[in-house]
Amino acid sequence: MNKDAARKLYTSKRKELSTGEIRENSKSIAETFIKSDLWKNCTVIHIFISIPDKAEIDTSFLIDFFFEQHPEIKICTSIIDTNGQDLLHTCITPSTTYIPNRWNIPEPVERLAVHEQDIDLVLLPLLAFDSKGNRVGYGKGFYDRFLQNCKSEVIKVGLSFFRPTDELIEADTWDVPLDYGISPDQLYAFKK
Ligand code: ADP
Ligand code: MG
Repeated sequence: MNKDAARKLYTSKRKELSTGEIRENSKSIAETFIKSDLWKNCTVIHIFISIPDKAEIDTSFLIDFFFEQHPEIKICTSIIDTNGQDLLHTCITPSTTYIPNRWNIPEPVERLAVHEQDIDLVLLPLLAFDSKGNRVGYGKGFYDRFLQNCKSEVIKVGLSFFRPTDELIEADTWDVPLDYGISPDQLYAFKK
């Protein structure tokens, strides 16, 4: 399946989800991640902030869990650089305030820079993934460029409302595959 076809299919599948389904599925995904051992040795975890009205996975359950239960773990998120191409990373805390950027993505107002090499685990938003860990995002390649600058052992975990695609996704040379995928009913591990 090519990436464009997967984007179209999974964008429309997402649109069919009700607000209640988005909430319940987001909670299940958060619980699966929390129960896993993936984050147990992590010092810095990167979590995306959900875009309102885009039917994205609501990561607030995970963010609140780490703030409340594991304040020793640093949580960071991304801001789009003024060049519109790269991501900058900043720490978030329970007192962080956010303002929507031009794409309606909430961005932290206070900046506390985090270096890509210090990130131990990245949670990735995606539209679809396949049984080999190939992923399809919104088509701007932000995460492919970001992950290229992270340390080689960074743990990449994709979050999806849907199970892996039946057909494999055609990956490009620059695509960085996932190590794990989480859908509402399961955690998938991909061999390297
Ligand atoms: P997504 O990963 O968001 O689904 P794609 O993988 O289709 O999107 O990538 C979108 C664009 O980003 C591509 O046209 C590609 O040129 C660019 N891109 C991705 N990774 C890199 C990279 N490491 N260096 C330069 N450009 C990149
Ligand atoms: Mg890509």
